[in-house]
Amino acid sequence: MEEKVIVDGLTFVPYLRREEIQKQVKRVAEQIREDMAGSSPLFLCVLNGAFIFAADLIREVGLNGCSVSFVRYKSYEGTSSTGKVKQLIGLTENLEGKDVVIIEDIVDTGLTAVQMIADIKKQNPASVRFATLLHKPESSKTGFQPDYVAFSIPPKFIIGYGLDLDGKVRNLKDIYMVEE
Ligand code: IMP
Repeated sequence: MEEKVIVDGLTFVPYLRREEIQKQVKRVAEQIREDMAGSSPLFLCVLNGAFIFAADLIREVGLNGCSVSFVRYKSYEGTSSTGKVKQLIGLTENLEGKDVVIIEDIVDTGLTAVQMIADIKKQNPASVRFATLLHKPESSKTGFQPDYVAFSIPPKFIIGYGLDLDGKVRNLKDIYMVEE
C-alpha cells in the first residue's frame, strides 16, 4: 500500500486496506446469498464507481442464476455533491417481476439512491434492494438507509477501489482518505 497518494494537489492517506475490503465484501455477499436463496436476481451496477466492488461482490455471492446490468448516474464534481443527480446511461432491461439488487460504491447525501430506486420502481420489479461499499450516514440529506453496507465511514472524501477524484485513481487497490 502506498503511504500517500497525491491527486490534483490533494494528499490522501491510507484508510481501508485491500484485505479488510475483501473481508467485508465476503460478509455482505453472504447476507445477499442468504436473502436471495431461490431467486435469480438482477444485479444493477451503478457506473462508474461501483464497477470494482460489483465485480468482487457478484463473484462472492455466487448465484449462478443471476444476471448483471449497468446504469450510470453522476452527482459529484471534484470532491463535493452538486445536489443534482444526472442519469447518463439508462436501463435497457425489463425489470417487471425481477428481484433487483443495486450495487453502488458510496452513499453520501442519498440523492442518487433515492432517485434511482424511484426510477426502478416504475418498472414494477418484485423487490429492490440496495448494496453499497461505503455509507456516509452523517452526510445524509434524505434519511436513505441501504440494505447492505460494507463500511460506514465519516463524511470525508475518499478515493480508490473504483472511487475517483474527477475520473482519476479508480485503479488503486486500497482506499485512501483526504488528509486535512
Ligand atoms: P449521493 O447522491 O450524494 O449519495 O452521492 C453518491 C455519489 O457521489 C457516489 O456514487 C459517488 O460517485 C460520489 N461520491 C460521494 N462521496 C464520494 C467520495 O468520498 N469519493 C468519491 N466519490 C464520492
